[in-house]
Amino acid sequence: MNGTVYLIHLDAPIAHAQHYIGWAKGFKERIKHHRNGTGAKFLAEAVKREINFDVVRTWENTDGNFERKLKNRKKARMLCPICRQEKK
Ligand SMILES: [Zn+2]
Repeated sequence: MNGTVYLIHLDAPIAHAQHYIGWAKGFKERIKHHRNGTGAKFLAEAVKREINFDVVRTWENTDGNFERKLKNRKKARMLCPICRQEKK
């Protein structure tokens, strides 16, 4: 059951969270749902508040365990190429 783990960066934080990590088998379909506000609640909230977001990184051929591992680290910012650039 391989799929894609993806990291989404929001242009503005919601309740201090500015990233979303997800996993999907049909990655592109899932992103469409996120953009329509029919996917995860967190991103539906972003759509509602008109906060732009983008997929900034993907890990292909991964499973849900890998997603959980990344989430548990709670360091999405360190994984995000946009946030890392802003630090310079
Ligand atoms: Zn970021």
